Amino acid sequence: MSKKNPSDIDKNKLNEYQKKRDFKKTTEPGGGKKQSSGKPRFVIQKHDASNLHYDFRLEIDDVLKSWAIPKGPSTDPSEKRMAVNTEDHPLEYADFEGTIPEDEYGGGTVIVWDGGTYRNLRAEKEDDKKTMSESFDDGKVEVWLEGKKLKGGYVLIRTGKKDDNKWLFKKMKDDEADARRNPVSSEPKSILSDLTIKEMEKKMKDKEG
Ligand code: MN
Repeated sequence: MSKKNPSDIDKNKLNEYQKKRDFKKTTEPGGGKKQSSGKPRFVIQKHDASNLHYDFRLEIDDVLKSWAIPKGPSTDPSEKRMAVNTEDHPLEYADFEGTIPEDEYGGGTVIVWDGGTYRNLRAEKEDDKKTMSESFDDGKVEVWLEGKKLKGGYVLIRTGKKDDNKWLFKKMKDDEADARRNPVSSEPKSILSDLTIKEMEKKMKDKEG
């Protein structure tokens, strides 16, 4: 079998992402150019769309697998957060912040709320060894996050059938778990620009003039 060209793989995976957007109107990246290098990354974007939510994205095989988490992540292992699997995003998206025009898909302001690198915890288990893409297909993703705000083990569990998009996101019990911390409210700023979502919105409006 001939070796697949990674950029071809990207294009197919990003079909849905690209179809939903008009890149003449939105400043979001078209994507498909950047490939994985070094440690895999994760990002959490705070997105003030019609409903405020947090987009959790994990780099898996040259795309960002994505989940929308309405309440955002919790550092308390007893808190389960609903996470809705959404379309794969390009790797370039991990650095995107700004305002998506109101009439466009996902219209509203985005900031990079947290991000960093991650480790696949299932790859380290003798009895439950899975790659990230196998873990995703399997409906159980276990990662160790090394973010600015979030650290430690987190698990994503698909709650329904294989093509169901409903998952749960929760903190694992480890030294990084902390039921008293509430970073979603106590640490609202972007890790890239140090702006809150309101400040970013104002900055983008002022830029438009
Ligand atoms: Mn979103």
